[in-house]
Amino acid sequence: MSNETSQPSASAALQQDVRCTVCGYNLRGLGVGGSCPECGRAISDSCQGDLLRYADPNWVMRMYRGALLVSAAFGLFFAYLIVGGMAFAAVQLAGFQIDAWLKVGPYLLRVVLTASVVIALLGVFLITSQEPREYLLERTTAIRRLARGAILLGVLIFVFKYHVAPNFYSVLMGVFLNLAFVVSLALSLKHAQLVAKRIPDERLAMLLGRWSRRLLVIGLCFSAALMLLFAARITPRPWWANAAYEATTVIGLAYVIVAIVSVGLFLAVAAALKSAAST
Ligand SMILES: [Zn+2]
Repeated sequence: MSNETSQPSASAALQQDVRCTVCGYNLRGLGVGGSCPECGRAISDSCQGDLLRYADPNWVMRMYRGALLVSAAFGLFFAYLIVGGMAFAAVQLAGFQIDAWLKVGPYLLRVVLTASVVIALLGVFLITSQEPREYLLERTTAIRRLARGAILLGVLIFVFKYHVAPNFYSVLMGVFLNLAFVVSLALSLKHAQLVAKRIPDERLAMLLGRWSRRLLVIGLCFSAALMLLFAARITPRPWWANAAYEATTVIGLAYVIVAIVSVGLFLAVAAALKSAAST
């Protein structure tokens, strides 16, 4: 009996519900040797379980583009920090007035941040796009939806903070903004982990799980440190103000390192998905 179900002959009709991997059509009652009447995919491909190489290649390519876009969003932001930081240092070393930079810098930051946020939004939505037969993997649905909800919330906070009311509890808004983005990106990594298990690439899946947790933890710590800074700002000269600044700097540096590893992981996911889609 078990042999019959795992290796059905070409003419055998499917006795149980099997969804087409590409369009989700229920193939029950159809011959294993045939094609899906809705989309033409070989029915045998839909009887192979969860492996990505039998999944809808368009869906895999959407996730591939998503992983690339999220890396690009990070990359743009880091490029700004590095190039902007170097320009700032060079201007100061050369002994020029920094007034000009102080005027241009915040404006540029807004432009770069806006572009990064839009690209990250697109990327997270693509990387968490729904598989045609997702009902098979319902546990991933909550992760996908939370990742999308968090980044949408992040975009709303971003628009409010940078384009509507820049002076409204600016540090506090920064805390919420950071929280929304870090939750969304950590969940996107977690989602990528579940996908990587279907390549199957256990090593990549293990790294994705591990760094998804690290990103979440360091992001939460950074938010807590920013909250301390906020408290230091509204309390008159607290004795721990310097400690709060130092803690924020150290956590911020660790955060940058974890974020750089995350960019590398999103790129690794993109490469793995691309090769999974082409096999
Ligand atoms: Zn189909």
